[in-house]
Amino acid sequence: MSKHSAAASNVGKVRSSNQDAGYAGTYLSVVADGMGGHAGGDVASHLVIRHLLQLDKEFANVTEAQQELLSAMLQANEMLSDVVYEHPELAGLGTTVSAMLRVGRQVVIAHIGDSRIYLLREGNLSQVTVDHTFVQRLIDSGRITEEEAHDHPRRSVLMRVLGDVDASPEIDTVVLDVAEGDRWMLCSDGLTGVVYSDRLKPFLVEAETADDAADTLVQASLTGGAPDNVTVVVVDITDGDPENIAELVGSAAGPMAVKAPEAKLIPTPNLKPRPKPKKLPISTGGMSVPPTALTAQLDAVKAKRIRRRAVLIGSMIVVVGAIVISAILGYRWSQTQFYVGGDKDSVVIYQGISQNVLGFGLSHVYVDTDIPLDTLTAYQQQQIKNGIPFGSYQEAQSLVDSLTSGAK
Ligand code: CA
Repeated sequence: MSKHSAAASNVGKVRSSNQDAGYAGTYLSVVADGMGGHAGGDVASHLVIRHLLQLDKEFANVTEAQQELLSAMLQANEMLSDVVYEHPELAGLGTTVSAMLRVGRQVVIAHIGDSRIYLLREGNLSQVTVDHTFVQRLIDSGRITEEEAHDHPRRSVLMRVLGDVDASPEIDTVVLDVAEGDRWMLCSDGLTGVVYSDRLKPFLVEAETADDAADTLVQASLTGGAPDNVTVVVVDITDGDPENIAELVGSAAGPMAVKAPEAKLIPTPNLKPRPKPKKLPISTGGMSVPPTALTAQLDAVKAKRIRRRAVLIGSMIVVVGAIVISAILGYRWSQTQFYVGGDKDSVVIYQGISQNVLGFGLSHVYVDTDIPLDTLTAYQQQQIKNGIPFGSYQEAQSLVDSLTSGAK
């Protein structure tokens, strides 16, 4: 007999470890997509999913289920800070969470980050959650289309996650009715970054069982190159009570690299700034000035000497000119760039790039927005302090607009 729910996860074709985690349970379904270097992402997704397992039980009503789900997620958020307190090398870890808890003929959904929940009902596929990403804000405000978002250079910038930087992250939650025949699907962006929303439906319609659906979707991401970890949980709503299922996949299936802390409040530790991996596009390498063999060749024919000098000086001018021109072009390019950063207390749009060359700064304040840094979430502050680069002023301004609009 086929199960009503199933989970599948794969490391993908590029990543060395699986930082995703998934759970298909009797009442509870969760997908978590961890981030952070070293073991950070594995630890974050593992810890959060394991902490939520206690909720896989029958609740008397949705209100109670909703409160417990939200408080367990906030508790897990504190536990991630505890982990970083004990293991400072894991600073910056975080995870998305999309969770669904079934209560009778309803489900409670809680969501933060860019994992997604979809519902296939009577042949229509709809996306139930909204991504907490920068590009989603651009889509919501009509600045870009969903197609443009697929290739947007800032598509991985998350506005909200569970992690060690925000003591009270904002979690979306909603209660929805379920219907017999519904097929619900939870997934990490390793699926939707490869198989876009408008191509998901046939996989969900054609698969006979939840198991088949989860496996086929993971396979579709692998066929598409799977640049990221991919995790899918599928839940079929059938008549009668759900069977007992408890399937853990991804990082949550194995042991955790560090000891799980008790849930308690502690001060948020200082965070190390993340290294900037970007390389300067300016290159003056590969060119050298030829030797200045200008010792007097007094015996040479005067005309010949002049010609040789002219050739030499000419080549020096070409070389020096090329260095100067590439420096100028490099500088001019840098001044077409913008980044959003912070001064002492407010959000600032800088013209230029945040890196220095030979001790020379390549940026200056373009607009001080006067948006106080302390009105932003700790996570946003951290991202802004690191500097978020953009190819145009308009894009930088869009991010600033999204900060002030308070859009979700
Ligand atoms: Ca991912």
